[in-house]
Amino acid sequence: MAAFDAFDAAVDTVVGFDIEMLTTPELLPLLQRYERARRRLPTGEHALINKLAREATPEELGGTLSHAVAEWTLITRAEAARRVREASDLGERCGLTGEPLPPMLPATAAAQRAGRLGAGHVSVIRRFCHQLPGFIDLDTREHAEAQLARLGSQYRPDQLAQLANRLTDCLNPDGSYTDDDRARRRGLTLGNQETNGMSALRGWITPELRATLEAVWAKLAAPGMCNPTDDTPCVDGAPTQDAIDRDSRSSAQRQHDGLNAALRAVLASGELGQHNGLPASIIVTTSLEDLEAAAGSGVTGGGTRLPISDVIRLARHAHHYLAVFDKGKAVALHHTKRLASPGQRIVLYAKDRGCSAPGCNLPGFYCEVHHVTDYAHCHTTDVDDLTFACGPHHRMLRPTGWTTRKRANGDTEWIPPPHLDRGQPRTNAFHHPEELLLDGDGDAL
Ligand SMILES: [Zn+2]
Repeated sequence: MAAFDAFDAAVDTVVGFDIEMLTTPELLPLLQRYERARRRLPTGEHALINKLAREATPEELGGTLSHAVAEWTLITRAEAARRVREASDLGERCGLTGEPLPPMLPATAAAQRAGRLGAGHVSVIRRFCHQLPGFIDLDTREHAEAQLARLGSQYRPDQLAQLANRLTDCLNPDGSYTDDDRARRRGLTLGNQETNGMSALRGWITPELRATLEAVWAKLAAPGMCNPTDDTPCVDGAPTQDAIDRDSRSSAQRQHDGLNAALRAVLASGELGQHNGLPASIIVTTSLEDLEAAAGSGVTGGGTRLPISDVIRLARHAHHYLAVFDKGKAVALHHTKRLASPGQRIVLYAKDRGCSAPGCNLPGFYCEVHHVTDYAHCHTTDVDDLTFACGPHHRMLRPTGWTTRKRANGDTEWIPPPHLDRGQPRTNAFHHPEELLLDGDGDAL
């Protein structure tokens, strides 16, 4: 703590300097000094994070390590996960008998400690090392890593990335990757919904998924097929010549509509079975007001905002659930079964919309039903006593000492055990942003 106080004092001195009298040749090297200081800091964090990874229990952390890093430092989950992975690559390791081992990427770790590599360089080198195919031997890997760590002190990260790509081409000239290499890289990410309602879909797909998509698109994305501007879109059989001639969509738009039609067919087939006790289907909740005015929007069980025009169009297809609520009032369902009934789950989709733990953004689709008052005590499954909790938050409750209780207004309050109490918020307004605009106690989010 004394060292950190001295460190803070030194930072105060440095940022407090009067730089008015300095000339350009004196100012530019100062930028280098700032950058060097910035680069060295993560080294100390790696040791802390790795020690926590080795020794801390989920109970002490209140969840996973990256969860705890994100909560205590208020950085994003993604950034916290990145720091945990970087620490495991660049921090010292421990052998089976507790003896210290050098870092996985020793040259990069040493250059970071010396302030010669910044965050951008480190991410280029780590990506390079992790994407090398499995057949490259250890010596070659270590040599390549050391070369990149050396070059990184002379080039910008974007230049280093180009060098790393050249090096990858040299080491793997045929681009021969095994199924394992490909399997490691596969993944699709659905980006956050933008204010205009659209979302970006990005990722890398395997040759197999590509072949499947091609076959589906050959049929459903052909000109004249699944065209939403047609009065009765052609979804099976062959489209009429007229439908083909009227089709003014781009091929990207046709592929979008074809994928939508294919997925809708899967939902409508009923072969997905049940998800959390309801048939797998799109569940939309909306207010009576919005529906009558054919304006506004609905919210799905997955947390997507749907314009009311889409809600009405979806209601024409298959059997989706539409729960309508008048001025936020949900019909209370009383039940004495241990499991929440499908009806109660739909009510929770509308009332809670998602996990009620403070700051949690997981929508109801991915949530479990939690009894706020322990079922063993109350023996009822009254919807007023239920709330949504995502898997991680639900599992966190009992063993780590967290408790829940209902406030008078129906909100669920999450009370941390003393060792995890940072004065954090206790209720979650994440799924009810409209309430933040109302007058309140400001304790919502
Ligand atoms: Zn949660």
